[in-house]
Amino acid sequence: MSPAPTLEANVSLRPYNTFGLEVTARWFARFASVEELRALLALPQVQAAEKLVLGGGSNLLFTRNFEGVVLKNEIRGLEIVDQDEETALVRAGAGESWHGLVQYALGQELSGIENLSLIPGTVGAAPLQNIGAYGAELKDTFEQLEALELSTGRLRTFLGPECGFGYRESVFKGPLKNQFIVTNVLLRLHKQGRPNVRYGDIQTTLQDMGIEGDPTPLHISEAVSSIRRSKLPDPAQIGNAGSFFKNPEISQAKFDELKAQFEGLPGYPVPGGVKVPAAWLIEQCGWKGQRRGPHGVHDRQALVLVNHGGAQGQDIRDLAYEIIASVREKFGIELHPEVNIM
Ligand SMILES: Cc1cc2nc3c(=O)[nH]c(=O)nc-3n(C[C@H](O)[C@H](O)[C@H](O)COP(=O)(O)OP(=O)(O)OC[C@H]3O[C@@H](n4cnc5c(N)ncnc54)[C@H](O)[C@@H]3O)c2cc1C
Repeated sequence: MSPAPTLEANVSLRPYNTFGLEVTARWFARFASVEELRALLALPQVQAAEKLVLGGGSNLLFTRNFEGVVLKNEIRGLEIVDQDEETALVRAGAGESWHGLVQYALGQELSGIENLSLIPGTVGAAPLQNIGAYGAELKDTFEQLEALELSTGRLRTFLGPECGFGYRESVFKGPLKNQFIVTNVLLRLHKQGRPNVRYGDIQTTLQDMGIEGDPTPLHISEAVSSIRRSKLPDPAQIGNAGSFFKNPEISQAKFDELKAQFEGLPGYPVPGGVKVPAAWLIEQCGWKGQRRGPHGVHDRQALVLVNHGGAQGQDIRDLAYEIIASVREKFGIELHPEVNIM
């Protein structure tokens, strides 16, 4: 029998959001298994309340106190559940840290997620926005996930095509938003490293590290980690949630029109159009490094909004809306937040 779940009242969420915002949850509880989660969901206060499942709080902006129940996912477990000559199927509990899973894979000499090294947060949140970095996305190795349906308490398995993965998108952010809690994720990883070094500065960083010939997954992980440390602010030092906006995708015609006007406009072909770096657009509007008292735009990465200490979530949200409006006015391009605004 699992112990009775405990609900704590009026809990500070400051340690649980990487913006470091001082907000509270009316109710707060942790669960480390599906049984504990079901027991929590059966409590009358929980049934009646708005629910928020929380992983590492690295993709959330709280603009007010949360008046419902925060359910902190602490389901652990990392294991190889099946394998053949070329691949291994790894199951990870949704409350494991994502980077912990990357390190586990590296320890087992498995490849496929090394380019996603050092992304903060939990395994369970990774499918929500199909996390991606340095030329890789979760969907590239994704096999299936299990999730508990809030309305029925039943577990359901979702295979890749049912997850509707796109660029920082999935059905769990779209039509099935707030309906399922991911409890575990299965990834199919490779025994023979297939290095993916095409993106960003990976190649030059490997050279700087003195790596010649085919890099191992561990080398790539180290290169990606070193690039990320040099480019992104550490939430332990300065509150942030990584890229605040998605990179917008526009039509080729719109891109050509803008390119005639703004010569330096960068763009990368994607199916159906061109992806434009939001950071460039924001920088061109003069936002990079702007500071409004305790909050602002990071001085080395225009895509990252920051809490220098003591900021309010509403102020960061309002700044984001101002940035969206100025990019719309200058370029006629609509930016969309990647961060979940609560
Ligand atoms: C410095 C920094 C760098 C980052 N770099 C990247 C990057 O390179 N690529 C990238 O894609 N992202 C990046 N992010 C964003 C973030 O790390 C990812 O989105 C991550 O997957 C969020 O995980 P989390 O556990 O912190 O989610 P949380 O912030 O706790 O939650 C995010 C959303 O997912 C929901 N959720 C969480 N867990 C579950 C679950 N088990 N079941 C159902 N819903 C759930 C929450 O309710 C919320 O809506 C970065 C963030 C930071 C701070």
